[in-house]
Amino acid sequence: MKVFYILSLFTLLGTCATKKYTSKIQDVKDNIVLMDSTQVIKYANTINAEELKTHLYKFSSNDFMGRRVGEPGQKLAAEFLKSYYESENIDSPFGGSNYYQTIPSSFFNDKYGSSENVLAYIEGSEHPEEVIVISSHLDHLGVSENGLINNGADDDGSGTVALMEMAQAFKLAKDEGHAPKRSILFLHLTAEEIGKKGSEFYTKYPVFPLEKTIANLNIDMIGRIDNYHKYDKDYMYLIGSDRLSKELHYVSEKVNNRFFNINLDYRFNAEGDTNDYYDRSDHYNFAFHGIPVIFYFNGEHDDYHKVTDTPDKIDYPLLEKRTKLIFATAWQIVNQDHRLAVDTNNELLK
Ligand SMILES: [Zn+2]
Repeated sequence: MKVFYILSLFTLLGTCATKKYTSKIQDVKDNIVLMDSTQVIKYANTINAEELKTHLYKFSSNDFMGRRVGEPGQKLAAEFLKSYYESENIDSPFGGSNYYQTIPSSFFNDKYGSSENVLAYIEGSEHPEEVIVISSHLDHLGVSENGLINNGADDDGSGTVALMEMAQAFKLAKDEGHAPKRSILFLHLTAEEIGKKGSEFYTKYPVFPLEKTIANLNIDMIGRIDNYHKYDKDYMYLIGSDRLSKELHYVSEKVNNRFFNINLDYRFNAEGDTNDYYDRSDHYNFAFHGIPVIFYFNGEHDDYHKVTDTPDKIDYPLLEKRTKLIFATAWQIVNQDHRLAVDTNNELLK
């Protein structure tokens, strides 16, 4: 009886403490007002499986020889992206026809040739100095010793073409009088496969000040299904969303619940998860500088880092839906009234 009484008391105290935190979190949730859904859906719906497929068959073709950092195939891949943005009339942040942030060979300890991040940019109409970075990596593993090409369709052709389609959708919105209030940088990073060096370089020499960089949405493999989800493919792993900004996490959840209802799987976000995905792609370099991130990922599959990662194995309707969710999340972040709050500065959590 006594034991029971003490346990009950603990439970009671525990409940009070939890409630207080819960009510702060509720305030964060309530403070998120979703933007006009008609506009979001209109432009999200311009992202379509057919265009993603066309881009991806090209980007992961043998023409680009597996896109190994510093090699001719990778340069062609960068050129392909630059040509795309020019043809879509989407600007470079450097102006003119220079879309490259060049990384010297010395940054790779001279083990690889010089390489380039490719940057495209849409300027915000109300707070142009505040920037969201949407990123994916353009490089891959190159040609294997047996002469076979690593096409890297999922890794990270899927993220690359998602950026291309999102940029086109935001540009169309701008042309029709719905420019984003904040600026958007579409950042195609090089040298991820040799240790996230492209994002390390960008965050060391940022084109826009890091203190004005409000979030990084990083995509690395979103076109496939892993073995955990063979019978439940309407899912995506999100990693990191709640670590630096609870508001970012709930924006992401709220947008998904309103429009898409994808099963957002957080198993790899658990503290102490031994896969360490939080540290393993380019978002990490942004998080390291205190910038809230979400890493979007479909998990590993049997073709991961093999020559069999080819575009015929991509699920294009699924890639379309996942891309739309990321687009709608970005739309909310760039258009909502207040700048996304980092937890350490969030009055609602104090
Ligand atoms: Zn990758």
